[in-house]
Amino acid sequence: MKPCQSRMRQLPGALVCLTALALAAAAAQSQSLPAFTGIQRLANADMALSLQASTGLYCRLLVSTNLLGTTNVPAPWESVVTFLGAGAWRHTNPAAPAASARFFRAVELTGTNHVTGDHLVTTNGDVVIHTGWHASFVMNWSNRLGTDWTNVTLFVDPTNAFAGLPRADLVLVTHDHGDHLREPMILAARRPGGLLIAPQAVYNKLTNAALKAATLVLTNGGAAQVLGVGVEAVPAYNTNSNFHPKGSGNGYVLTVGGRRIYISGDTDNTPEMRALPNIDVAFLAMNQPYTMTVTNAARAVAAFRPRVVYPYHCAGSDLNLFRQLAQTNQEVEVRLRRWY
Ligand SMILES: [Zn+2]
Repeated sequence: MKPCQSRMRQLPGALVCLTALALAAAAAQSQSLPAFTGIQRLANADMALSLQASTGLYCRLLVSTNLLGTTNVPAPWESVVTFLGAGAWRHTNPAAPAASARFFRAVELTGTNHVTGDHLVTTNGDVVIHTGWHASFVMNWSNRLGTDWTNVTLFVDPTNAFAGLPRADLVLVTHDHGDHLREPMILAARRPGGLLIAPQAVYNKLTNAALKAATLVLTNGGAAQVLGVGVEAVPAYNTNSNFHPKGSGNGYVLTVGGRRIYISGDTDNTPEMRALPNIDVAFLAMNQPYTMTVTNAARAVAAFRPRVVYPYHCAGSDLNLFRQLAQTNQEVEVRLRRWY
């Protein structure tokens, strides 16, 4: 079984085209939903797509940079985002990295068990990234283990409830501060038998015996293969303060289907971060005085050059400035999401 894959209706769906230089909007011909209702270039050069979608039904937005597919070679559509219809809906497509043309298609999904969020295409199916509050987020994908497909749900620093999502097969906790470690939330998030990966300081604060027994302690430099996912624990620490001493907390680099996802944890721009190789997606903490300034985060991006960056753990920070700094002369896509 390959859950959460595209059990889409065989309808063509609404289709819209835009280019980086000029809009070539094709209004949706179909009366059915979802339907595009508008496209708009924003002041920062992003494109905003407006859609109308049926309330309570799941939809998916797909993108292609060409439509040269034939009957023998399907058009190379990639999933962008899965969302729950609620009437008018808007998606902002970043200006960078600029493709010469992009074609968007929106389809309605059957079924009710879809995880909403951004898609990351891997060699092993799509990872769906569902952002939460502050430093909490969820990733879900269909994982091929041998000839079987299993659905994997991973929670990072769960401090909010994430109602309606599958329970966690794996929970990662970066460090023992209260905005990252809330044991009741881990217990609520974790399915029976689910694993926790955490540094020693987190393990020491756990009180639930079953949870402790299901915890794998990783220290900086440690690594594990769990449920087909590579998990590396990397340093996360302050260089100019003692909020997060070196060695106490972990950042993580996950390898899923050939993609490498970096979760910074609470850290400054460190030599270890700047030397990270081949990062596809990076979650970067930026708030003062605990983690990076937006300027330092942008300097880190310039050094290790992730393809996609999610600022998170970012209350009070000027994220538009971060994006401006990080995207200068670089092929990086900064995704601003609602974390608060
Ligand atoms: Zn924190």
